[in-house]
Amino acid sequence: MNFTLHGIAVSSGIAVGHAHLISHTALEVAHYKLPGDMLAEELTRFDAALASTRSELTALRASRPQQAAAEFDAFLDLHLMILCDEHISRAPREMIEREHCNAEWALKVKMDELVAHFEAFDDAYLRERKTDVTQVVERILKTLTGQPGHVPPASNHDTKMILVAHDVSPADLIQLKPHQFSAILTDLGGATSHTAIIARGLNTPCVVGLHHARELLRENDLLIVDGEQGVVIVNPDKQILADYRLRQDQFGLERKKLKRLKAMLASTLDGTQIELHANIELPQDLPEVKENGATGIGLFRSEFLFLNRDVLPGEEEQFEAYRAVAEGMEGLPVTIRTFDLGADKQLNDAQRVASNPALGLRAIRLCLAEPKLFRTQLRALLRASHYGNVHILVPMLSGTAEINQTLQFIANVKQALDAEGIPYNREVQIGGMVEIPAAALALNVFIKKLDFLSIGTNDLIQYTLAIDRTDEEVAHLYDPLHPAVLYLLSHVIGSATKAGIPVAVCGEMAGDLAYTRLLLGLGLRQFSMNPAQLLGAKQRVLTTSLPQIATITQKILRAEDPLKTRELLDKLNAM
Ligand code: PEP
Ligand code: MG
Repeated sequence: MNFTLHGIAVSSGIAVGHAHLISHTALEVAHYKLPGDMLAEELTRFDAALASTRSELTALRASRPQQAAAEFDAFLDLHLMILCDEHISRAPREMIEREHCNAEWALKVKMDELVAHFEAFDDAYLRERKTDVTQVVERILKTLTGQPGHVPPASNHDTKMILVAHDVSPADLIQLKPHQFSAILTDLGGATSHTAIIARGLNTPCVVGLHHARELLRENDLLIVDGEQGVVIVNPDKQILADYRLRQDQFGLERKKLKRLKAMLASTLDGTQIELHANIELPQDLPEVKENGATGIGLFRSEFLFLNRDVLPGEEEQFEAYRAVAEGMEGLPVTIRTFDLGADKQLNDAQRVASNPALGLRAIRLCLAEPKLFRTQLRALLRASHYGNVHILVPMLSGTAEINQTLQFIANVKQALDAEGIPYNREVQIGGMVEIPAAALALNVFIKKLDFLSIGTNDLIQYTLAIDRTDEEVAHLYDPLHPAVLYLLSHVIGSATKAGIPVAVCGEMAGDLAYTRLLLGLGLRQFSMNPAQLLGAKQRVLTTSLPQIATITQKILRAEDPLKTRELLDKLNAM
């Protein structure tokens, strides 16, 4: 059947390929067909996983500490009961036999059915029991795969696969890098979620917020993904396929043309030089940074070194990673952000489930609460500063107390390095991210105490408009053009410039060509973005005259009606 799905376009490009379905984030499982002669083995594997989970639960019950509450027994009894439920113990077996699918998939499908059953209960207590079902299935899956399974087997199609998931965490997506899916589709997610940011970094067309893609699509469906419009065409006819193949070629050609701008300086028509820096997640991203002619790294999201790990990287490993980037950039600025863990970037072993993670213990708050973790990173960063032009950037600062505490930490680490005779750059620049409205409004202390600022528009918009950036249900309210956002941007850029302190934008707004001119008009001279967006932004800069856009930028700042703002922005971009 031929049909179309619409979602939020987060990474441009056009892809044609076959759907490869994976399941819910915590229960990511591959779906594949088994040859008839492997069925018996698969059934044995399934039975063994059930038996092993049963022993695990029984052993837990036997070893329960004396002081543990009686609810603990009740909880384990319930889990043992769920394990014996025919939806979990028998139905998947039948499905494996009938459909020749792998055990993980059968288990997952049957779990979804049982969860739906629980969801239909009027009684809130019974409805909540779906969580127990999920936990039991997770336990079986871990036994089946040896660990939580995420990564599907390599493609056996001649066209590349298109990943279809209900949701993919940023950590999982980084892991999928080598698999090179030709596109990524998810039911959940917003345009500035970290998953979307990673997809852009992979240069892979991506559409999120599709709501029911994983339910509606079948393994192997032929798909066209239009990452520009946020459209997915399922089982297209020949004519549509031919049209899109043509557009795909044109897209490739445009990208090739942009490559010619690589060595050119990014200056406006009136001769103002603009710095176009790159955002990276890992040292392995450096070749792309160079290919796209970045004049520095504006944001190294160092927390990605921590994700997908059982053992956290120690000082030496971190030092090597930071040094590799510092040396690799050969004297160009390298801005390394201290860990921004928490919210949608959780450690593997993070047991804390905050009720509101975006407002919880994340970024600098977490670092200040975990002195050992923070000190280790600061030591590695300062040591790396000896080998290149390293700047240290601190995320999520809200005001004086956190700034003072952070600077004190840095001073202490410097003192320790001095005592040990370890070299570092004594003049290393310390900057703060402006991503909380409070920081933008009480900017004076940032200007007085820090060497540079970087505006994280992804979070600044999230917190200003009270919109969860990862929630597709409110994605339509995520508005970089909201007058409050524009006011804060203009205020921060204007105040920092007046005070003579460098200011950049490193959120996704910096790489979105719709906003390049607007940001230039607000006085921004330093942008940091995904490497894949750099050349497009350079083309924009090269065709912009700052005196020409001054008046219209002021009009946009004053506009109160969103339609008028859009109209003015279109006019600005058509100049
Ligand atoms: C931001 O918030 O704009 C930013 C650059 O940081 P992150 O996207 O990693 O939260
Ligand atoms: Mg941020």
